[in-house]
Amino acid sequence: MGLIIRSSAIHAAGCYTTTPIGKGVLVAEYDGPRLTKREADTAYEESPITYLFGIGDGSTVIDGHSMAMFINHSCDPNCETEELQGRVWIRAIRDIAAGEEITYDYCLYDGGDDEAICNCGAPQCRGTMYSPQESKKRRRKTLSNKRQQAAPRGRRTAQQGRR
Ligand SMILES: [Zn+2]
Repeated sequence: MGLIIRSSAIHAAGCYTTTPIGKGVLVAEYDGPRLTKREADTAYEESPITYLFGIGDGSTVIDGHSMAMFINHSCDPNCETEELQGRVWIRAIRDIAAGEEITYDYCLYDGGDDEAICNCGAPQCRGTMYSPQESKKRRRKTLSNKRQQAAPRGRRTAQQGRR
């Protein structure tokens, strides 16, 4: 198996295989130093780009420092991630041809203000790299924020009208 990093249509750089990969094969390990959630939040507070991968109950994150950090998200991926005894692997969920870009569904959560817009180009693209559950939650939050913003504006208008 040969993995290479080169420019990708999905994002700046992507991870490609130079040889065919059979379904079920472990393609790469998402490896890197382990940080607590708090350490990671402090270290990357100001950083728009992070390569953090939450494991277990999410209180520990892997700070990606391997080939796997270049693997892009897709809403129609050819791999999935699997946690085995505290290590995270990228496993092929279908046969992958030589030259194909390796992808998995990021299922992001905890992204702050980041929209995490998806450009994967899959017909069933959900438009975001957040997990379906998280993006539902975020949509609700956006709606309630809008309602909160709308209320004071409405009151101001009413006061101005009285003057
Ligand atoms: Zn997508």
